[in-house]
Amino acid sequence: MKYVYSFKEGNKDMKNVLGGKGANLAEMVSLGLPVPMGFTVSCDACLKYYEDEMSISSNICDEIFLQISELEKHTGKKFGDYTNPLLVSVRSGARVSMPGMMDTVLNLGLNDLVVEKFSGVVDNPRFIYDSYRRFIQMFADVVKGFDRSLFEEILDKVKSEKDVADDAMLSVDDLKVVVALFLDLYEKLDGDYFPQDPKEQLMEAIKAVFRSWNNERAIFYRKMNDIPDSWGTAVNVQEMVYGNLNNDSGTGVAFTRNPATGDNKLFGEYLMNAQGEDVVAGIRTPSDITTLNDVMPDCYKEFCDICKVLENHYRDMQDMEFTIENKKLYILQTRSGKRTGAAAVKIAVDLVNEGLITKEEALMRVDGKLLDQLLHKTFDTSSLKNGKVIAKGLAASPGASYGKVVFDVNDIVNKDDDYILVKLETSPEDIEGMAICNGILTVRGGMTSHAAVVARGMGTCCVCGCEELVIDSASKTLTTGSSIVVKEGDYISLDGSTGMVYLGKIDTVDPAIGGDFKTFMSWADDIKKLEVRTNADNGRDARVARDFGACGIGLCRTEHMFFDEERIFNFRKMIVADTVSEREAALELILPYQKHDFMDLFREMDGYPVTIRFLDPPLHEFLPNKEDEIATLANDLSVSVSFLKNKIDSLKEFNPMMGHRGCRLSITYPEIVAMQTKAVCLAAIECVKDGISVKPHIMIPLVGDVNEFKYLKDIIAPLFDSLLLEHNVSLDYKIGTMIEIPRAALTADEIAKEADFFSFGTNDLTQMTYGFSRDDASKFLNCYYDKKIFLNDPFVRLDINGVGELIKIATAKARSVNPKIDLGICGEHGGEETSIKFCNDLGLNYVSCSPYRVPIARLAAAKAAIMENDNK
Ligand code: PEP
Ligand code: MG
Repeated sequence: MKYVYSFKEGNKDMKNVLGGKGANLAEMVSLGLPVPMGFTVSCDACLKYYEDEMSISSNICDEIFLQISELEKHTGKKFGDYTNPLLVSVRSGARVSMPGMMDTVLNLGLNDLVVEKFSGVVDNPRFIYDSYRRFIQMFADVVKGFDRSLFEEILDKVKSEKDVADDAMLSVDDLKVVVALFLDLYEKLDGDYFPQDPKEQLMEAIKAVFRSWNNERAIFYRKMNDIPDSWGTAVNVQEMVYGNLNNDSGTGVAFTRNPATGDNKLFGEYLMNAQGEDVVAGIRTPSDITTLNDVMPDCYKEFCDICKVLENHYRDMQDMEFTIENKKLYILQTRSGKRTGAAAVKIAVDLVNEGLITKEEALMRVDGKLLDQLLHKTFDTSSLKNGKVIAKGLAASPGASYGKVVFDVNDIVNKDDDYILVKLETSPEDIEGMAICNGILTVRGGMTSHAAVVARGMGTCCVCGCEELVIDSASKTLTTGSSIVVKEGDYISLDGSTGMVYLGKIDTVDPAIGGDFKTFMSWADDIKKLEVRTNADNGRDARVARDFGACGIGLCRTEHMFFDEERIFNFRKMIVADTVSEREAALELILPYQKHDFMDLFREMDGYPVTIRFLDPPLHEFLPNKEDEIATLANDLSVSVSFLKNKIDSLKEFNPMMGHRGCRLSITYPEIVAMQTKAVCLAAIECVKDGISVKPHIMIPLVGDVNEFKYLKDIIAPLFDSLLLEHNVSLDYKIGTMIEIPRAALTADEIAKEADFFSFGTNDLTQMTYGFSRDDASKFLNCYYDKKIFLNDPFVRLDINGVGELIKIATAKARSVNPKIDLGICGEHGGEETSIKFCNDLGLNYVSCSPYRVPIARLAAAKAAIMENDNK
């Protein structure tokens, strides 16, 4: 196997072997662009290094040294030569760019003798010593892991002795002092003198870059961005060019279009007489790239021409690094530039309009996560410095927010103020508080926990399952894993897209949805096959979802309609009722609310299906558990405290998620089904009379046996029909079920003979297939990821092999007996890209997800259809 490639050998399609940077450098060489020559040690060599217990095998060493002699021939320079030494940079470069996550060593090849002699023959000896001190510090830091601040301290000391503020003001003699002190410090720290042999320096630097693949920040970045640990990084060894050689030299970074807005204008900055790190270090303020035209018009023109060449060649916005050495321009890197959601959409649309890419390519290029960014507030990057990361939880509902910590919604003094609700876990009673707060942070609970589901529905930012936090409700404080104590009223900020929790107030910026977004999404709709519906329980959410392009409601969780203060009272009355007639009387009081809410949904979804799921959660969830609340409720309901306590006790279950819930409730209390059926039907009748096109789909939850379904259908259908008859209205309605119990999937042919539609409730189906509680699994799943037992959360990304197999079986069985059956998915997976692809490939009819995920689902459905067509 070949492990080392000259830049003359590779091309842009070899990213898996050469890493992104190496592949693009090779591509630029083949385009004849001015790239300093070099070679790439492949990602496979990195994997081999780990396989060989962190050593580089002799055949790879031979390949590297062969390339060094090729490089010597090409440049006419030599490693260790006193008058014309070859100096190289050693940089990481994985398959996808991981900016700043791994290590780099510059100016490699310098040693005491080279520096002494070479500085005697060049015009600018100061520059040689400056390069050497940078090299020693980088090598000590990157290769040896010595504390770089010890070196900084020396530099600062010399600067203060010389009374200068800027490194650039140190004279050659000052730098000689710095170098000598650095060498002493290095020897003290290492026990050995700084390595003088360039080949040894090189091999050590390559190994260090390989090791940096597994440094903490790189691992963290990979986890955040779903980059497999198994890829490894390549290492690029490249002839150094110097932007800090003299005043005719400089260095900079530029994007071919504006990465924040997408505007088709060169965007970037540069510094004269500086090395790359100076541009990012912030000590000197770089100049706008366009002003290079005044300083060096020829270089600027050449650079603009190269930008065009690269953009046309890659057919995408490029992010480039360049250096000018003595008026000669070099390109050090090009890659597809990272961009904001707004820029991603604008650039994609513009590139189609410019004839550079097809609509399909445009859709394939925009990451759903970026689209998400467009729909939510994000942190104002200039304000990020105001926050300090104090914890990380699950990125449960995207967006960014800040607010004062509040542990109990009743403690909110001013509803217009900014709050973050911090709870062990939320319960349905928190719903009002959740609506008031800017963000929600919970200690417990996974991606399908109450907090996560409700927050996503409302479009409120939420971080959940932040297990490292400890809440002390007595002292109203929150303590982080690193013992930082946050008090009620202190500001924290949440990033619901990354799961980060910050101490402090980080300002946010509103999303901006422009005309390009509409154009882009219309392309997605033209191509996709799956319908996209939404999970919404009220008119407001349904409206948002319609605006985002949802074509119907795939899941209305009717229990969410009961939590309003007045409604919950009547609902509780129903729960504590001892007789059917008492229960019916309480239900009569609830019926008008339900009917009203259903009418809202029908109106918003005029012409589209509205899937209404009948009551699902166990009843005990609706009753209070604190002593004082129980006493108040007993008083309000005019029952004794002991009666109420007995009732609550009688509803308690060891495994409520597998207990008296879903269709089981309706079977034991058919009067609940009757009330809900009446509410749906009467709402539909009234809407029809108002000229609205109504398509009610009644959905029975948690069916495991066809007889459960039949029993309830036999209540619902005759009642619905008789009401229609009574009101002289005709309309089509459907009765279907959720498939969320493995047995239902396995007996789908029996159920499909009776049902008009199936909706896969993948939250429960995942819970029951794995036997993982969806509310508690986050407690141990982190350990599963760390130990690589799981790569990701099965409650977020559908487990294709297990849960997916059940869906496949159910789909085939259902269609075998009822070819017209409508099949969809309404668990949280309905808004997740890979799960949507699975649904597309299986030929389901629709996916349903929370309103703010609708555009992402539309895009994912389009991508899935494109990939399917490409594979045909
Ligand atoms: C499900 O189980 O996937 C589902 C959508 O229902 P819920 O989350 O309300 O249990
Ligand atoms: Mg469910």
